[in-house]
Amino acid sequence: MKFEMTKCNRCGSEILLGLEVCPSCGKQQASARASFQPRTLLAVALAVAVLFAFNWMKPAPPHARPVNSPPSATLPSR
Ligand SMILES: [Zn+2]
Repeated sequence: MKFEMTKCNRCGSEILLGLEVCPSCGKQQASARASFQPRTLLAVALAVAVLFAFNWMKPAPPHARPVNSPPSATLPSR
């Protein structure tokens, strides 16, 4: 997971999105919290939905196969 960055209201240095106070100048980031919730929640929800869709569709091919070969055939045993 990658951290989202935003810019400080006063000094313009990059800070973590969601931080309330700029670490370099100490200015309170009032707008950070307001923009944090709805868009980030939506993005997280979309990411989770996509992940679920991928996990749901992926196991189909191996599951359709009959389990004839033992697991040791695919993995080289040392
Ligand atoms: Zn700052």
